[in-house]
Amino acid sequence: MKAVFLDKDGTLIPDIPYNVDPALITIQQNAFEGLTLLQHEGYMLILVSNQAGIARGYFPLNSLIAVEERLLELLKPHRIHLDAFYYCPHHINGIEDNYAVDCNCRKPRPGMLLQAASDYHIDLSASWMIGDILDDVEAGNRAGCKTILIDNGNETEWRGGDFRTPARICRSINQAAECILNKQYA
Ligand SMILES: [Mg+2]
Ligand SMILES: [Zn+2]
Repeated sequence: MKAVFLDKDGTLIPDIPYNVDPALITIQQNAFEGLTLLQHEGYMLILVSNQAGIARGYFPLNSLIAVEERLLELLKPHRIHLDAFYYCPHHINGIEDNYAVDCNCRKPRPGMLLQAASDYHIDLSASWMIGDILDDVEAGNRAGCKTILIDNGNETEWRGGDFRTPARICRSINQAAECILNKQYA
């Protein structure tokens, strides 16, 4: 299997910090065609999302169920299906005992991607990570994927370092898909 790992906030959907209200969730513009093409080309579409709001006590882990349902509902009319969802509920400065830990799954660490690869027998070297900040890029590169940064203004620090250089910088998921598939489309 091969996969495109998608960051959620700011990449698949417009970022509303710590939002878990399904009614406020929309899919990012300029994403549907790209996701359709990637899926058609045989890439699993897998969400990998840091959700420190759980560790911080802003919302419980199970509130993400409604978020997933909303995402699937919004994508279904376009015949796009997200194959799996991975979350990091941790944050070292959290207040919830179980989640206030220095984990291996919070991006920029690659734990979620490695877990998905193990769960679905994914060839990470044939897979891509798409995200809107360099922590996504680092997680993808550390996992052995190729990476695309969606430069939509959400990365503001541009902290460099090992593993923090994307293969490509794109404006949207559609453009990212074009890069991945090396195809042009209207
Ligand atoms: Mg993001
Ligand atoms: Zn974690």
